[in-house]
Amino acid sequence: MYEKSQELYQTAKELMPGGVNSPVRAFKSVGMDPLFIDRAEGARTYDVDGNEYIDYVLSFGPLILGHSDRKVVDALTAAAQKGTSFGAPTRLENELAELVIERVPSVEMLRMVSSGTEATLAALRLARGFTGRNKILKFEGCYHGHSDSLLIKAGSGVATLGLPDSPGVPEGTAKNTVTVPYNDEESLKIAFDKFGDDIAAVIMEPVAGNMGVVPPKDGYLKFVRELTEENGTLLIFDEVMTGFRVGYNSAQGHYGIKPDLTCLGKVIGGGLPVGAYGGRRDIMEHIAPVGNIYQAGTLSGNPLAMTAGLETLRQLTPESYEHFNKLGDMLESGLKKVFSKHDLPITVNRAGSMIGFFLTEGPVVDFDSANTSDLNLFRELYQELLKEGVYLPPSQFEGMFLSTKHTPEDIERTIDAFSTALDRLATK
Ligand code: PMP
Repeated sequence: MYEKSQELYQTAKELMPGGVNSPVRAFKSVGMDPLFIDRAEGARTYDVDGNEYIDYVLSFGPLILGHSDRKVVDALTAAAQKGTSFGAPTRLENELAELVIERVPSVEMLRMVSSGTEATLAALRLARGFTGRNKILKFEGCYHGHSDSLLIKAGSGVATLGLPDSPGVPEGTAKNTVTVPYNDEESLKIAFDKFGDDIAAVIMEPVAGNMGVVPPKDGYLKFVRELTEENGTLLIFDEVMTGFRVGYNSAQGHYGIKPDLTCLGKVIGGGLPVGAYGGRRDIMEHIAPVGNIYQAGTLSGNPLAMTAGLETLRQLTPESYEHFNKLGDMLESGLKKVFSKHDLPITVNRAGSMIGFFLTEGPVVDFDSANTSDLNLFRELYQELLKEGVYLPPSQFEGMFLSTKHTPEDIERTIDAFSTALDRLATK
């Protein structure tokens, strides 16, 4: 059923490392060749062999309105007619910046870039320049893009492939990245006792989404906020994934915690390449050309990307998040029933439109507990679910995403698919 995908993959492997332009796409940890996608609409994706899937990947998060949303596509078509890039300011950049500032509580000013990686690396440079300190602190299993200082004990593809400390990161850089387990107050305190006066920033996913989905324990974000403040350390929320997914006002609005800087991406580009970093005005004004900390981009604020982002954010309402919670409740209780029927453990973690399941008793609160999931079962289940028309992110360490186009019927079909898949595995 995957002949055309397999044929294209053989060619791709000769042309690109692993046949892909981003590692998780190679399906390595699910033990099969990747699907090549032909087209997608709403909550459905179609591969080149004509198979149809309910899509929970959604381009790894950006497509919160589902694929090819009519208004987004029409706006993009109109924007393209006016020109695709100018290297000069446009009204669209003002409009998207205004919308982000209005919705994300801590952001007073922001700078657009072209990816999440760029956003986090620029935010760290800014934090170091602003504080005059060297070290940054990150959490094990969190992923913040592939810049050198952030590829230490990282999640996402690096966790999937078992490469948490990538070769090629200079020793001096690694030395300046302190890592501690997520959700563990004691370890963080110890790290601050030791290095506190040289930590420029703590960077964190306010809900971790790159070791599967792992929400913060009650009071944990408040604890991190207070400790950073006491130590003169900036707190950076990497909301590249959680931004506009965990809540209408992003994770920081949902949990009521204000970081100093915020990184965004994915949803704010509506499926086109975008990132942004922003926050306190007094910090952001250290960026060139107002200040002397440099950061730039040929395609930053690109009119097509701004258009897709604007049309996406404009269509999100507080009701969208009620829809996500309703579908999330359904999926969680359905999965628990199916797994209990098969006498298999499952832990479901959720935050708004992000859902993670782990094949373990749980609870899953950090990278170590995420790693107790049965990865062999995940691989087998993954392949069976594809046969049943359910397309999940091809790794235990990536969450599932919902869109406004997913329906209760989609969730029912998905639960049925899990049930059929487990029945089949039980008789294997
Ligand atoms: N931060 C987080 C929290 C992410 O999830 C990602 C990507 N999954 C990134 C940063 C990097 O973004 P990009 O892939 O656009 O460079």
